[in-house]
Amino acid sequence: MIKDRARIRGIARDTLKFILEASRSSMPEEFAGLLQAEDGIITEVLIIPGTESSRMSALIRLYMLPNMRVAGSAHSHPSSNIRPSEQDLQFFSRTGDYHIIAGPPFDESSWACYDIEGLRRDLAILDVEFKDVGFDEDFGDEDLV
Ligand code: ZN
Repeated sequence: MIKDRARIRGIARDTLKFILEASRSSMPEEFAGLLQAEDGIITEVLIIPGTESSRMSALIRLYMLPNMRVAGSAHSHPSSNIRPSEQDLQFFSRTGDYHIIAGPPFDESSWACYDIEGLRRDLAILDVEFKDVGFDEDFGDEDLV
Protein backbone atom coordinates (compact mmCIF):
# COMPACT_ATOMS: atom_id res chain seq x y z
CA MET A 1 0.00 0.00 0.00
CA ILE A 2 1.27 3.44 -0.86
CA LYS A 3 0.83 6.02 1.88
CA ASP A 4 1.55 9.70 1.82
CA ARG A 5 3.85 10.26 4.79
CA ALA A 6 4.50 13.92 3.96
CA ARG A 7 3.86 16.32 6.81
CA ILE A 8 0.27 17.50 6.86
CA ARG A 9 -0.18 21.20 7.60
CA GLY A 10 -3.94 21.11 7.85
CA ILE A 11 -7.23 20.61 6.10
CA ALA A 12 -8.83 23.01 3.65
CA ARG A 13 -11.89 24.66 5.21
CA ASP A 14 -14.05 23.69 2.22
CA THR A 15 -12.97 20.06 2.53
CA LEU A 16 -13.90 20.02 6.22
CA LYS A 17 -17.25 21.61 5.35
CA PHE A 18 -17.83 18.92 2.76
CA ILE A 19 -17.16 16.19 5.36
CA LEU A 20 -19.55 17.82 7.85
CA GLU A 21 -22.24 18.31 5.18
CA ALA A 22 -21.90 14.74 3.94
CA SER A 23 -22.02 13.46 7.53
CA ARG A 24 -25.19 15.43 8.23
CA SER A 25 -26.93 14.30 5.06
CA SER A 26 -25.97 10.65 5.63
CA MET A 27 -27.87 10.52 8.92
CA PRO A 28 -28.94 8.16 10.38
CA GLU A 29 -26.31 6.22 8.42
CA GLU A 30 -22.66 7.03 8.86
CA PHE A 31 -20.46 8.68 6.30
CA ALA A 32 -16.90 7.53 5.63
CA GLY A 33 -14.14 8.67 3.34
CA LEU A 34 -10.41 8.61 2.80
CA LEU A 35 -8.45 11.85 2.90
CA GLN A 36 -5.93 12.79 0.28
CA ALA A 37 -3.49 15.66 0.55
CA GLU A 38 -1.80 17.93 -1.92
CA ASP A 39 1.27 19.92 -0.85
CA GLY A 40 0.63 18.95 2.78
CA ILE A 41 -2.98 20.12 2.80
CA ILE A 42 -5.92 17.73 2.94
CA THR A 43 -8.13 18.72 0.02
CA GLU A 44 -9.73 15.53 -1.27
CA VAL A 45 -12.25 13.12 0.19
CA LEU A 46 -12.76 9.76 -1.44
CA ILE A 47 -16.06 8.36 -0.24
CA ILE A 48 -16.07 4.80 1.11
CA PRO A 49 -19.34 2.91 0.96
CA GLY A 50 -20.40 0.69 3.83
CA THR A 51 -20.80 0.81 7.56
CA GLU A 52 -18.35 0.67 10.43
CA SER A 53 -18.30 -3.14 10.35
CA SER A 54 -18.13 -3.53 6.58
CA ARG A 55 -15.62 -0.76 6.00
CA MET A 56 -12.52 -2.93 5.82
CA SER A 57 -13.72 -4.79 2.73
CA ALA A 58 -14.62 -1.53 1.00
CA LEU A 59 -11.16 -0.29 1.88
CA ILE A 60 -9.46 -3.30 0.33
CA ARG A 61 -11.34 -2.64 -2.91
CA LEU A 62 -10.28 0.99 -2.85
CA TYR A 63 -6.63 0.08 -2.44
CA MET A 64 -6.84 -1.66 -5.79
CA LEU A 65 -7.08 1.79 -7.37
CA PRO A 66 -3.79 2.87 -8.94
CA ASN A 67 -1.69 5.55 -7.23
CA MET A 68 -3.78 5.55 -4.09
CA ARG A 69 -2.15 7.90 -1.60
CA VAL A 70 -3.88 8.36 1.71
CA ALA A 71 -3.28 10.99 4.38
CA GLY A 72 -6.00 9.69 6.66
CA SER A 73 -9.72 9.15 6.93
CA ALA A 74 -12.91 10.88 7.91
CA HIS A 75 -16.13 9.37 9.15
CA SER A 76 -19.18 10.27 11.14
CA HIS A 77 -20.73 8.83 14.26
CA PRO A 78 -24.49 9.24 14.31
CA SER A 79 -24.27 9.42 18.12
CA SER A 80 -22.50 12.35 19.74
CA ASN A 81 -19.69 10.08 21.01
CA ILE A 82 -16.86 10.91 18.63
CA ARG A 83 -14.27 8.64 20.28
CA PRO A 84 -12.82 5.96 17.97
CA SER A 85 -14.27 2.47 18.29
CA GLU A 86 -12.22 -0.75 18.26
CA GLN A 87 -13.04 -1.14 14.55
CA ASP A 88 -12.02 2.44 13.92
CA LEU A 89 -8.59 1.76 15.41
CA GLN A 90 -8.07 -1.17 13.06
CA PHE A 91 -9.17 1.03 10.19
CA PHE A 92 -6.89 3.89 11.28
CA SER A 93 -3.87 1.61 11.33
CA ARG A 94 -4.21 1.11 7.58
CA THR A 95 -5.25 4.52 6.37
CA GLY A 96 -2.66 7.13 7.32
CA ASP A 97 -2.05 9.41 10.29
CA TYR A 98 -4.96 11.87 10.35
CA HIS A 99 -8.39 10.56 11.22
CA ILE A 100 -11.40 12.81 11.57
CA ILE A 101 -14.53 11.71 13.42
CA ALA A 102 -17.52 14.03 13.23
CA GLY A 103 -20.65 13.87 15.36
CA PRO A 104 -23.94 15.80 15.57
CA PRO A 105 -24.61 18.67 15.03
CA PHE A 106 -21.78 18.44 12.47
CA ASP A 107 -20.52 21.98 12.82
CA GLU A 108 -16.92 23.19 13.00
CA SER A 109 -16.70 22.32 16.69
CA SER A 110 -18.28 18.85 16.62
CA TRP A 111 -15.40 16.88 15.19
CA ALA A 112 -11.99 15.70 16.34
CA CYS A 113 -8.85 14.46 14.68
CA TYR A 114 -6.96 11.38 15.91
CA ASP A 115 -3.61 9.85 15.07
CA ILE A 116 -2.99 6.28 14.00
CA GLU A 117 -3.31 5.07 17.61
CA GLY A 118 -6.53 6.93 18.29
CA LEU A 119 -4.99 9.77 20.30
CA ARG A 120 -6.31 13.24 19.66
CA ARG A 121 -4.16 15.49 17.55
CA ASP A 122 -4.48 19.02 16.24
CA LEU A 123 -5.47 19.61 12.67
CA ALA A 124 -5.44 23.19 11.44
CA ILE A 125 -8.27 24.48 9.27
CA LEU A 126 -6.75 26.38 6.38
CA ASP A 127 -8.41 28.85 4.07
CA VAL A 128 -7.23 27.60 0.73
CA GLU A 129 -8.23 29.01 -2.60
CA PHE A 130 -8.77 26.20 -5.05
CA LYS A 131 -7.10 27.06 -8.32
CA ASP A 132 -6.21 25.16 -11.43
CA VAL A 133 -2.50 25.80 -10.96
CA GLY A 134 -1.31 24.88 -7.47
CA PHE A 135 -2.31 26.62 -4.29
CA ASP A 136 -2.13 30.20 -3.16
CA GLU A 137 0.75 30.26 -0.67
CA ASP A 138 -0.92 33.01 1.36
CA PHE A 139 -3.36 31.05 3.49
CA GLY A 140 -4.66 33.95 5.54
CA ASP A 141 -5.69 33.06 9.06
CA GLU A 142 -5.03 29.58 10.30
CA ASP A 143 -7.22 28.32 13.13
CA LEU A 144 -5.83 25.68 15.41
CA VAL A 145 -8.58 23.44 16.71
ZN1 ZN B 1 -16.28 5.11 14.07
